[in-house]
Amino acid sequence: MAKQSKTSQIRTPIVCVLGHVDHGKTSLLDTIRGSSVVDTEAGAITQHIGATIVPIEAIARGNSSLAKMQFNIPGLLFIDTPGHHAFTTLRARGGSLADLAIVVVDINEGFKPQTIEALQILRNYKTPFVIAANKVDRIHGWRVHENESFATTFAKQNERVQGMLETKVYELVGKLSDLGFNSERFDRVRDFARNVGIVPTSALTGEGISDVLMMLIGLAQRYMTDNLALSVEGPGAGTVLEVKEERGLGTTLDVILYDGTLSVGDEIVVAGHNQILTTKVRSLLKPRPMSEILIEDKFERVKSVAAATGIKVAAPKLEGVIAGTPLRVVRGENRDEVIEKVMSEIEDIQVTIADEGIIIKADTIGALEALSKELDAQGIGVLKAEVGPVTRHDVIEAGTIKNPLYSAIIAFNTPMLPDAVDTLAESPQVSAFESGVIYQLIDDYVEWRDEKKREMERQQFEKLVMPAKVRILPGCIFRQSNPAVVGVRILGGKLQSGVYLALPNGKRIGHLKQMQLRSETIHEAEAGQEVAVSIEGPTVGRQINVDDDLYVDIPERHVKVIEREMLDRLSPSMQEILEEYTTMRRRQDPFWGK
Ligand code: GDP
Repeated sequence: MAKQSKTSQIRTPIVCVLGHVDHGKTSLLDTIRGSSVVDTEAGAITQHIGATIVPIEAIARGNSSLAKMQFNIPGLLFIDTPGHHAFTTLRARGGSLADLAIVVVDINEGFKPQTIEALQILRNYKTPFVIAANKVDRIHGWRVHENESFATTFAKQNERVQGMLETKVYELVGKLSDLGFNSERFDRVRDFARNVGIVPTSALTGEGISDVLMMLIGLAQRYMTDNLALSVEGPGAGTVLEVKEERGLGTTLDVILYDGTLSVGDEIVVAGHNQILTTKVRSLLKPRPMSEILIEDKFERVKSVAAATGIKVAAPKLEGVIAGTPLRVVRGENRDEVIEKVMSEIEDIQVTIADEGIIIKADTIGALEALSKELDAQGIGVLKAEVGPVTRHDVIEAGTIKNPLYSAIIAFNTPMLPDAVDTLAESPQVSAFESGVIYQLIDDYVEWRDEKKREMERQQFEKLVMPAKVRILPGCIFRQSNPAVVGVRILGGKLQSGVYLALPNGKRIGHLKQMQLRSETIHEAEAGQEVAVSIEGPTVGRQINVDDDLYVDIPERHVKVIEREMLDRLSPSMQEILEEYTTMRRRQDPFWGK
């Protein structure tokens, strides 16, 4: 029997299961819970509201190496709802309430968008985790050894199957390395603080499950006992996992209590939209054990609970409380101080707001934080961050953002309201991106932004006066003046109508009004072409003459933009003429156009 050390009181670590859809999160949780839910002896797994506690004795029972070990944690508390929604809702003290996580990945399919998503979120929250490389029983030729440890079942597989498993694990190691994580098969990891352990599992057959539990306990014992220190007797602190209507009870809160105790009659402080609420606990409810299933009331009432646990709280005035916000008990200490604490926890939402940026929305406070951290890491500013669906107002606000590259809304796991969709359809300058995967959202936004940037550059480029040099051809003086009409050859660059022309000494001689090629009006002519141009200003024989070379007179600020940002987009011929032109200008003023 495993012994629990009495020397230091540590609370039960909270564990979340994350990963891609259909990779086996629910099955894994069921297998972990299922083994002895109906067990009535001491140390049986117990159902809580929103969570299941697996005591250390239950874990040790199925694991001979654990049975000999000393423990100072009472067990593991698994959050019943898998996925990152629950993980990010369980926000507490600026991080996630979950102390540890399991990332489930189908070993045959490898990493999928939500797997990567989960890893990013865990990295942001600095939450230690193990990888369950699940569905090993699907490897062709796998021989099932139910509920055995990985080492035992692996040793009984043939060489081909063993080799296949190794290859698949190494594929995961490679992918994790691309994502910036060092990892190894769990039995080869020496330093769990640096390396992520990969445990091959089957949620269906139970193989490797005891190894996952052992890994979690190892991580908790070794690396996080400071975080798990518990004031069992102090006033309770928790996080609201869900706000639910219950028949006969009204609005109730499903709370994960991570510290202290919570009792009927306690005054509690919770948070709603823009307001703090205080109320008194009317009842505390737990799920009724399976054996009492015939009793009509599905909840069992209890007087008091201690952390860590999941409990349903019924009390007046709970309408409007938001999931993901804190709950604190006022007991012994100053009520105002507790209110202050809850307020600061809410204000402590770690979203960096910039002067310039996009609008972000998410389903939970934690999800908003995770998204914001990832955007921050990529240097993308956030102007406004809110929990909730995308509203018409958000779209209008995005439309007023000055920098068009930020006229965007990113909606992570949250819908767009119908009137927001309508407004968006009427606001072509605004784009909205919706997804349940952060990196997908960021990729989509960056792609849109870069395309928009290129488009803006193209537009700017089109407005710029481009360099060109022309020569007035002999025998092609069609009109002397008002305007002068002459034939020219484009010696280099690109000639556009509407530009001003200057002599090689810099003197501006007139405005090129029109250009014709074989009696057709054109707006651009390339090097080598011969065209007729009408020039408002000069008279042939006075300001200009046959065989004169003329330059396009480029405004100084256009030269600045071209030289700084667009030089590589000019043709060699245009670059050459620009060089001649600026050399001429800089002979008179060395800093011209700089
Ligand atoms: P979730 O969406 O990640 O919660 O995935 P589920 O737990 O619902 O599993 C998806 C499907 O995969 C179900 O049909 C499960 O029975 C199956 N499944 C889950 N784990 C395993 C496993 O280890 N082996 C096999 N063969 N099937 C599994």
